Amino acid sequence: IKEQMSKVETIKLRNRHVGKSCQLFYKSDPLKIVRGQGQYMFDETGTRYLDCINNVAHVGHCHPRVVQAGAEQMATLSTNNRFLHDELVRCAQTLADKMPGNLSVCFLVNSGSEANDLALRLAKTHTKQKDVITLDHAYHGHLSSVMDISPYKFNQPGGEPKPDHVHVAAPPDVYRGKYNKFNTKGQDLGKLYAQEVTDIIQKLREQGKGVSAFIAESLQSCGGQIIPPDGYLQTVYDEVRKAGGVCIADEVQVGFGRVGSHYWAFDMLGVVPDIVTVAKPMGNGHPVGAVVTTPEIAESFAATGVSYFNTYGGNPVSCAIANAVMQVIEDEHLQENALKVGNYLLKECTDMIYEFDCVGDVRGSGLFLGIELVKGGDKRQPATEEAHWVVNRMKDVHKILVSSDGPNDNVIKLKPPMVFNIENAEEFLLGFRECLSLLQKQGSRANGVTQTSIICNLPSSKIHEKQDHLINDPDKQQVLNYSQIVSTSFVYKSKLFGRSP
Ligand code: PMP
Repeated sequence: IKEQMSKVETIKLRNRHVGKSCQLFYKSDPLKIVRGQGQYMFDETGTRYLDCINNVAHVGHCHPRVVQAGAEQMATLSTNNRFLHDELVRCAQTLADKMPGNLSVCFLVNSGSEANDLALRLAKTHTKQKDVITLDHAYHGHLSSVMDISPYKFNQPGGEPKPDHVHVAAPPDVYRGKYNKFNTKGQDLGKLYAQEVTDIIQKLREQGKGVSAFIAESLQSCGGQIIPPDGYLQTVYDEVRKAGGVCIADEVQVGFGRVGSHYWAFDMLGVVPDIVTVAKPMGNGHPVGAVVTTPEIAESFAATGVSYFNTYGGNPVSCAIANAVMQVIEDEHLQENALKVGNYLLKECTDMIYEFDCVGDVRGSGLFLGIELVKGGDKRQPATEEAHWVVNRMKDVHKILVSSDGPNDNVIKLKPPMVFNIENAEEFLLGFRECLSLLQKQGSRANGVTQTSIICNLPSSKIHEKQDHLINDPDKQQVLNYSQIVSTSFVYKSKLFGRSP
């Protein structure tokens, strides 16, 4: 075992030798994670963090069956996909079997960015068009081609300008979007948002242009965990196809059972794409991705005569790992778990809309949830600073990792490993409720909170009882900023005292 550096030394070397633009979680006080297991991560001091953000560790960090499959294959053979290999064809077959319609041809790649880049190439060769429709705030990867279709990046200050062949439609956000449940009472939001895409197609037609592709995450993640309104995606897919374009579903974040009710998020929305891209959860942390499409589209690509080769895409190790991940999802009923735990979280968090002024909207499906923090009388002003404060306090005090996202960075995002259980959900809710209680008490002035901790050993049921009592009793409001946190052994052992300033 290599000797571990001090955290200070790691930071020093990173600052010296790693590009400054490389993202780091909790920038002002970054975490040094040295080990992961299931839904937990451990830092260099052995402190346990409950992981609510790593959707990549889909079946749990370092799942033994996935580790074993990778290690065994690595010890046997790791080479490129120009040789026949059973793990490769088995992986392609399993993916195809999971897809509806005639989505039956796979290309194995190494990442979500590569998958989306290839999807755009497939669309372009099949349709012989180059104009692409994407959604505002979308993120589809870091390669030049997919940065071009990612307003999440090109809208940032300093981002490259939007290329002419890319057309941006409003994302179907029914809470904060252009059309929402406040300003369009009684109207069909699905139709209104779909019309945005139809209008783009019409404008292209007037310029004598067609459509190559419409690309969207089935549920937009970086956009703020968006659940599109009924009928939206069906209408858009119909219109795009009528215009000769193909529909690409980016399932890089939301695929493989995360949404609970279905294996793929597009299935939940009642559409069948022409091209599907998958990655992140597929390798549980190992780089592997895929593009799945129809025989017709794959044939158009082959007909160009230009062969496709990707040195690492589809190598036996990646495929063995992906096969193990897909098998574990089945064997451990993780999709069902996502539905059960996700429904519980959704219900509990939705109740918070009435409990806390700063909770504006709660949405999601399975273990893909967003909690929009707001302020102001109308509960619509984005509470961005407060969201950042909550993210940091959840880490510092409760040892729970959550993140924020969305156009205003005020949506608390939950996308934990799929082994996240009801006990974990309760642990999250307890910590989160404590943070929101503090915000409520301080009228959203989230600064200068002090804490001292004392040990107590209350079972979780008692803490809930106590907390309900405190929350419901106005005379006890000053003790609302007491919090309880959970120890590594699941025993509630610390009670944090703090008086808001
Ligand atoms: N699509 C979506 C929806 C993503 O969230 C991401 C990564 N965050 C990508 C594509 C790119 O994947 P990768 O980082 O594996 O290249």
